Amino acid sequence: MADKFPTQLFGAFLMFFVLQPFVIKSLEFESVQNLEGAQKGDVVNGLNQIKKYLHSYGYYHHDTEDTFDDRFDDSLESALKAYQDYLGIDVTGKIDSDTIKGVLTPRCGVPDHLVSNYSFPGGKYKWTKSSLSWSVQNSVNVFTPDEITPALTAAFKSWADVSPLKFAKAGKGTKGDITIGFFPRDHGDGNPFKAGEFAHAYLPEDGRLHYNANWGWTFDPTAKGEKRKVDVQSIGVHEIGHTLGLGHSDDKSAVMYPYFAPGIKKRDLTDDDKKGIKALYPK
Ligand SMILES: [Zn+2]
Ligand SMILES: [Zn+2]
Repeated sequence: MADKFPTQLFGAFLMFFVLQPFVIKSLEFESVQNLEGAQKGDVVNGLNQIKKYLHSYGYYHHDTEDTFDDRFDDSLESALKAYQDYLGIDVTGKIDSDTIKGVLTPRCGVPDHLVSNYSFPGGKYKWTKSSLSWSVQNSVNVFTPDEITPALTAAFKSWADVSPLKFAKAGKGTKGDITIGFFPRDHGDGNPFKAGEFAHAYLPEDGRLHYNANWGWTFDPTAKGEKRKVDVQSIGVHEIGHTLGLGHSDDKSAVMYPYFAPGIKKRDLTDDDKKGIKALYPK
């Protein structure tokens, strides 16, 4: 299945800001641990993995994808500083234990945008209509469309409550403006999931929202036996934000913060999230 973007500009934009078009294997935990203490001037086996990681989430700027080496250069130092600043940890420009903790934390697959608080990359990717339909198009049947409908309905309501947007489930057998489903690692959109990614979604007016079927998913992570699973609704609220045009926030409490964890709920929009959607879709 080939990607068809409406314009070349949009394609280039997506590649740069939203989803990187190349495969990156998930970080190998031991080799990342071995990097602790590395700093500018060092050459350490495995540094290329940190470069790839920072590149795939929008911090390390590099022309070509296949020449990441193990040298700790100036660009890596400045990328690390930007990353540490985003995470709110000490900005050391070295690979310290907090940085390692960061790169090993599961997250959303969409790159971070390097501005403070709420962001929308470019500011111009938004839906031109205010009534949007959605549908479930699973590739892997983790839940049936009927099972997942209440969680998604609630996730859409969070955004509808604070914006002029209206959402309705598309009629049976009809493809909605926003299409949501569970997918395996490789799922034909050129953006295979890395192990540490819960989901990803595309900017308007694309509408694709993909959950990573390799995680355990739940409708209530606080229920007995469910705390190692990931909350469908929390991730839904976050990824719907992307489908509406929002990027990541560096406000840790915001729904649009890129990192998340199994066993918790983060379903309520914060002031930061609300400011973002209101700026993009004024009443
Ligand atoms: Zn995200
Ligand atoms: Zn995908």
